[in-house]
Amino acid sequence: MSDGTTHYAGCFDAGPKHYECDLQEIGRLRLTITDLRVKLEKKEWVGLTNEEFKQCSYDADGFTIDREVAMRAVESKLKEKNT
Ligand SMILES: [Zn+2]
Repeated sequence: MSDGTTHYAGCFDAGPKHYECDLQEIGRLRLTITDLRVKLEKKEWVGLTNEEFKQCSYDADGFTIDREVAMRAVESKLKEKNT
């Protein structure tokens, strides 16, 4: 069939009369492969080193900074390394 439907689930495996169904199944499989390939190629998560964590805890003059500010600095650094 060429209208985007199959005769019954899995009929693409039932011989030459289901050639068009087989082509549709191949198309679906291709899309699945492309989708999986994109997911596999996604960049791996990169964390911070201990030194980078420390750097996020101090300001430019070496003073300990507010916890929330430090957490935002960590978040910002992680974004920088992972996007
Ligand atoms: Zn069929």
